[in-house]
Amino acid sequence: MGAHIIDGKAIAGSVRAEWKLRAENLVKQGITPGLAVIIVGDDPASSIYVRNKVKACNEIGIYSEVHRFSGDALQEDVLLCIQKLNENVQIHGILVQLPLPPHFDNNAVITSITTQKDVDGFHLYNLGALVTGNAIFLPCTPYGVMVMLEKNNILIEGQHAVVVGRSNIVGKPMAFMLLQRGATMTICTSKTRDLAAFTRSADILVVAVGKPKMIQAEMVKPGATVIDVGINRLPDGKLCGDVDFDSVSQVAGYITPVPGGVGPMTITMLLCNTITAAERVQAHTSQV
Ligand code: NDP
Repeated sequence: MGAHIIDGKAIAGSVRAEWKLRAENLVKQGITPGLAVIIVGDDPASSIYVRNKVKACNEIGIYSEVHRFSGDALQEDVLLCIQKLNENVQIHGILVQLPLPPHFDNNAVITSITTQKDVDGFHLYNLGALVTGNAIFLPCTPYGVMVMLEKNNILIEGQHAVVVGRSNIVGKPMAFMLLQRGATMTICTSKTRDLAAFTRSADILVVAVGKPKMIQAEMVKPGATVIDVGINRLPDGKLCGDVDFDSVSQVAGYITPVPGGVGPMTITMLLCNTITAAERVQAHTSQV
């Protein structure tokens, strides 16, 4: 029997509808959630991501503004911009589109964002808060995965979850979120010996590597939940994930497709984090 396909597009749609009401509620109370996006350089993929984020903000009722810098901009100019945005009461979330040009120090830039506006959840403080079970903002992609698991009533506690990939934006925060929910965790990397031995023992398998179709059916436990974070472009221009969907969907219990799986959830969770940031400001304002 084929796996149940987790429809990221549909889940993202229902989450956005729910959060649009929350944004509207804030507007009624005089606070329009605001997101500032900083982009440095003219990387075409980054420009598309930023455009999509702005469009999604417009659709859900978030005010957004984009601050563009040329690829040879000085880091101190970007830091100055962030400092102004930190103080700007109309802005509740600030994100810096990555990657930054090589002459930038990523950590210096990200940690200059006030933690209360770090809606990407990449600030070192926020990552530390996540690790200790006190997350302020959850990084958007793994947050989206958690929502997908929740909406499908997939048991996490006591399950063996294997995350393949250890990046700071996906693999590591993903592992800590699953750990926080009571999963027994394994993280695999490029250095892991006998990857298949680990992936085959996973009740929940999350793959975030960037290698097309690297997870094959024989690497998956029958009935497992398989979440494919990878986005790869094939020579024919089509997108595919890190999981061989055709074969793995014959073995898994649940599976996310690419496209239409984790992808639509990432921007959705950014919107949720921005609205959450504005709700916190509203709650604080009404207390004083
Ligand atoms: P990174 O390149 O930062 O990390 C990739 C990870 O994969 C590394 O930790 C690396 O291990 C590990 N790896 C590489 N080869 C192997 C292997 N053969 N076996 C096991 N592990 C391996 O990528 P990201 O985490 O940023 O992204 C991963 C994928 O997810 C990409 O395809 C990206 O496009 C996609 N993505 C999708 C998003 C979405 O919204 N759906 C959002 C963000 C990313 P090591 O550290 O040892 O080198």
